[in-house]
Amino acid sequence: MQNIILLSLVVPVFNEQETIQIFIEKINEVFIDYVDTIKIEIVFVNDGSSDDTLDILLNMQNNVYKQHNFINIKVIDFSRNFGKEAALSAGLNNVSGDVIVPIDVDLQHPPELIIKMIEKWQEGFEVVVAKRCNRDSDSWIKKQTASMFYKLHNKISSPKIPENVTDFRLMDRKVVDILNTFTETHRFMKGLFSWVGFKTTFIDYIVPERSAGESKFNGWKLWNFALEGITSFSTIPLRIWTYVGSFFALLSFIFMFYTIIRVFVHGVDVPGYASIIALITFFGGLQLIGIGIIGEYLGRTYIESKRRPIYVIRKIYDITDDKKVD
Ligand code: UDP
Ligand code: MG
Repeated sequence: MQNIILLSLVVPVFNEQETIQIFIEKINEVFIDYVDTIKIEIVFVNDGSSDDTLDILLNMQNNVYKQHNFINIKVIDFSRNFGKEAALSAGLNNVSGDVIVPIDVDLQHPPELIIKMIEKWQEGFEVVVAKRCNRDSDSWIKKQTASMFYKLHNKISSPKIPENVTDFRLMDRKVVDILNTFTETHRFMKGLFSWVGFKTTFIDYIVPERSAGESKFNGWKLWNFALEGITSFSTIPLRIWTYVGSFFALLSFIFMFYTIIRVFVHGVDVPGYASIIALITFFGGLQLIGIGIIGEYLGRTYIESKRRPIYVIRKIYDITDDKKVD
């Protein structure tokens, strides 16, 4: 007889009242055939939702535990919206499974895939990453910007993150234990996941449309997310200014010689207003970009140096504490 595997799902939710029930039903449907081998713990992290998400979660928690005792729901309630990365961290800090899978509630991460992931884990892989092989559910602009982000990120950051992976992956307990020791406040989980390494394999999947509701990530949020990714894993944007600066200093040196010699040969001529203005504005702009980038990093260093917690939990609802005994 095989050992029973405890599978922990980490599910961040932010205003997801339409999708939670569909998600839980789907989990039940997928895993009902495996009740003898897989027990499931679902850790929902309510990331400061302003709709009925929490009520629905607590209701489901009671009902599901009574109906299907192979599924146990834990609810972590944040004091406000801290963002998906913080929610994932909180989830990972509170899981007890042998294998852990962060997953979106909107079924854009198909739960069927977890069965395949577990098989790979049993073959000896410590991390099994789901890799999307289409992006049809995304708009054209999201596809293009995502692809540009990965190219840029991977050129200048180490380690590289494989293109088209998401947070959806299976991790062995020991991988999560390592992640939980990280203390940084700014968290780009995808980057951290690949930073820890371990024996990794990939499986492909097709991203379906959202089961209900709307995407919580707009353009501005994604832009900041991309900045987070790059500044967390690369200092090249900071260092590059030394080279840009040296290059232009060299150019201006050559230009200076050229001008001086010209004055000796042709005498002084006054015209040159347009080129001076052009150069001044160009270098002004360049310097501002440089300062802006230093600001990005300095700001992050400043926040990081305060050592504030990554998230604040209002309450953890764990049904096994009070109801399991009777
Ligand atoms: N989410 C969250 N906090 C946020 C934004 C999103 O916990 O501030 C959750 C959301 O509820 C969902 C997951 O992150 O479970 C993915 O979000 P979404 O589906 O909106 O993103 P997309 O798939 O469009 O990138
Ligand atoms: Mg989604």
